[in-house]
Amino acid sequence: MESTQGKDLVTQVALSTGASQAEAEALGEVAGADDAANALFAPEYQTESSPVHRTVWDDHCPVELFDAPTPSAAQGRAKAAMDAAFEIVRRHQRAGTYVNGDGPYAGKLSDALIADLGQVGYYGALIPEEYGGLGLDFPAFALEETRMAVIAPSVAMQNSVHEAIGAVGPLLFFGNRQQREWLRALATGNPQSCFALTESQGGSDLKNMLTRGVITDGEIVITGQKWFITNVYPGGLMCLVCMLQGPDLSPSPQVLIVELPREENERYWLTRYKLSALQELRNYGVNFNGLRVPLANWIHPKNVSNGLTIAYHLLNRGRVSVCAVAAGRLRSMLQHMRLWGRTRVSMSKPIDQRDLPLEDYARMAGLIVCADAFRDWTAWLLQKGYRGELETGAAKVTVTRLLNEAMERIYPQFWGGRALDVCHPYSQQVTELKAAEIYEGHNNMLCLAWFAALTKRHSARFMMPIFKRVQELGLQRFDPANPSHLWQLRKELPEYGKWIARHQVDLRGHTPLPAVPRELARCARAAIHGLQGMAIVMDGAMREHREDLINRQGVVQDLVLEAHQYIAVLVTALHARHAGDPVVELAAQTFCEEQLRRLRGGRRTREQHARLVELGRMVREGRFHLLDGVPEGEVNMPWEA
Ligand SMILES: Cc1cc2nc3c(=O)[nH]c(=O)nc-3n(C[C@H](O)[C@H](O)[C@H](O)COP(=O)(O)OP(=O)(O)OC[C@H]3O[C@@H](n4cnc5c(N)ncnc54)[C@H](O)[C@@H]3O)c2cc1C
Repeated sequence: MESTQGKDLVTQVALSTGASQAEAEALGEVAGADDAANALFAPEYQTESSPVHRTVWDDHCPVELFDAPTPSAAQGRAKAAMDAAFEIVRRHQRAGTYVNGDGPYAGKLSDALIADLGQVGYYGALIPEEYGGLGLDFPAFALEETRMAVIAPSVAMQNSVHEAIGAVGPLLFFGNRQQREWLRALATGNPQSCFALTESQGGSDLKNMLTRGVITDGEIVITGQKWFITNVYPGGLMCLVCMLQGPDLSPSPQVLIVELPREENERYWLTRYKLSALQELRNYGVNFNGLRVPLANWIHPKNVSNGLTIAYHLLNRGRVSVCAVAAGRLRSMLQHMRLWGRTRVSMSKPIDQRDLPLEDYARMAGLIVCADAFRDWTAWLLQKGYRGELETGAAKVTVTRLLNEAMERIYPQFWGGRALDVCHPYSQQVTELKAAEIYEGHNNMLCLAWFAALTKRHSARFMMPIFKRVQELGLQRFDPANPSHLWQLRKELPEYGKWIARHQVDLRGHTPLPAVPRELARCARAAIHGLQGMAIVMDGAMREHREDLINRQGVVQDLVLEAHQYIAVLVTALHARHAGDPVVELAAQTFCEEQLRRLRGGRRTREQHARLVELGRMVREGRFHLLDGVPEGEVNMPWEA
């Protein structure tokens, strides 16, 4: 059942702020698809029942829903396959066959590597065993992605595209019995799959989709162009989102599986450009000019009338993967810093004997624990059946921002001038990491969508009735100090007034915290309090800007990033206890203190500096076990001893 509530609300608000009818309807349709995506889930797993929504708007923060258990690691056959995959990657890296040396795909992951990984089952990690896959659950899969990202982030990203957002996801969750048969081949990694949503004029603006499918004689004829498509190649399997129409179907976004022909031809061809991000993966534009696919390739379960619903579902999973890969990349950076810290002697001592470099170690360690925390928490929620829109959105935006903080402000400074040598990982990867803020939902756009999702119910319950009445009365602007206005809105205002009064005196609480060290408990409580406080802050912004808030994007983004920081503190503080390791706990504490300091302003205290240095020493001495097994890399521009 497709809900019309969000659709109508957004259309009306957009119209009232001066949007054209077409723009307002377009925004309304995206909101309608979002409502429909929500309706796919049982009420207890929908956005309004999610931990973040409940904490901001309800009386109690459900702490237990922020406290994900440690994922169970892969076992038996799955573990053997994953271990074999790591060995294969290492072997190809040693042999110089990790990427193609020449040919049309020079510099991309080599066919031999992909074939070897496919043979051991790596590309079927999430696919159920009955279809030949390894049957990992999502938290275990995400953990394996971090492990792989440490040695080969491109391989981890490729499998994230293949299994989280490519064809595997839609077939697993939405495919019929016949369509699910594709999973057998996908589990072998041949074909690889990709996800095609973006267009050259429709990256952030999904409604501007121009790629069309027309149903004729049991086939779908596709025309148009997709852009920025990762892991696409002739012969691959594409999960395509396009505007589909037919005799009994007016144009609407739908999902098709497209078996791309092995040879490019006048009906379909690739546009090749060179991106400096995901450099080792194939990323091209794809042109369709009358390519025909069987009607049976249309994925349209009865309960999904709009294909964007499927896309939203997949993207939430993709966002967990982005965190998992980031967690691996952060580990590699810190391990590489340790190498330089002990190698670089300055003023007669290695730099890792000094406070500033040690504080850098500590900050990196904190970021790693936070990325792990978001990965495990969001993967666990999705596995439990939550839609996870607010949680995965917060995770993706926060972790990619922290990754870029490390990349911009910690890692290159630590390495000094050598970071700018083209052989240094910083110079090679800086745009790789920047890209994570753009793909799987541009962070800026995600923040706006996040706010809309979080405030939808509050807006519908309290703001919209007032707003509608003001329109009916023909008032230019409602003035709460005007007794005549108050009288005219006497039916709509009391409920809202009660809500405000209740939230001015904040009597809200939380379910008990688990046993965590005192300092972490203090951070967790501060985060809960801060997140609960966002209700009155967001409501205030909604009142101040009224329906025009939709246009005040900077205001919205500030509010969202503030809420994200509280979420980061809460999940990190709770996550740390599961490691049972005081060094991880200290890393979590320093991270949380830093985030809370940024929220509140002020300098670091003497004790906070001391804790950072202490943690930095532990990292230096190899006591931060999240780095165990992570390769150190090399010193570039070496000098003669
Ligand atoms: C390495 C890489 C891999 C990718 N892989 C895939 C893939 O496999 N499949 C796929 O479908 N896509 C993929 N993408 C595309 C990616 O999802 C888009 O790049 C992203 O959604 C942003 O779209 P855009 O690049 O068109 O940016 P634009 O939409 O042009 O955005 C540019 C700027 O405009 C701002 N902006 C746009 N609209 C608004 C608005 N209404 N209000 C305020 N600000 C606005 C954005 O916030 C941003 O700051 C990939 C991209 C990259 C870089």
